[in-house]
Amino acid sequence: MERWLSVVKGRTSISLSIYGEAEGYPLMVVQSERCEPKRPSVYLSAGIHGDEPAAVEGLIRWAEASLGKLDAWNWMIFPCLNPWGLERNIRCDAEGRDLNRFYDSRKVPQIIAQRALMEGCRFDAAVTLHEDYDSRGFYLYEVAAKRPYWGESLCEELTSVMNADPRRKIDGHSARNGLIRRRITPDLMKGHPEAFLLHFHYAERTFTLETPSEESLDQRVRVQKRFLASMVKKLKLGMVS
Ligand SMILES: [Zn+2]
Repeated sequence: MERWLSVVKGRTSISLSIYGEAEGYPLMVVQSERCEPKRPSVYLSAGIHGDEPAAVEGLIRWAEASLGKLDAWNWMIFPCLNPWGLERNIRCDAEGRDLNRFYDSRKVPQIIAQRALMEGCRFDAAVTLHEDYDSRGFYLYEVAAKRPYWGESLCEELTSVMNADPRRKIDGHSARNGLIRRRITPDLMKGHPEAFLLHFHYAERTFTLETPSEESLDQRVRVQKRFLASMVKKLKLGMVS
């Protein structure tokens, strides 16, 4: 939180606020003060699974390096959705719930509070950052929505930092060069992940990045950070065209 406070310190267009708590840990959001309709609107989150530290670290490192130059954009950033889990290196929350399966329910107060913040928002792109113990390189989920698709070129840029997961089937889905493009429907899963909610209600494009937990932390953080930089580049190009 101290690091995020220094990212927003002295800026008038973005601020950090606390929107709830979980097991005594404050839940923070970093967001733009007002909406600039001509600027890209972006949703970023990390740390919903507490045992995926590179996502949380990659997001803050990217913000420390880059957010100051982009503070006129419209941001909604959730730096760490499960701080209790992060501190303990545990996937679930204190009640043993995988929080990423509750985005279609009203059972978890912190998710209800998070959803209230998103009400009425529309994002050009939404990114949820994750890690995976089984993966053999990075991989990326792109929800099949707005064209042209960005998945291939985003993955291509990451290969300068780390190899893509070479598997042709990842988690039961067809994959190619680390990219899984999925069409999703509300009946696909019993408990919806964050990415589903974003796709159905809030975002034009939705991505979930996964880095391999068995790689060095430093390397994984670099991939996470680079992905966000590539995403920003894509959105900048979209502003010009
Ligand atoms: Zn995860």
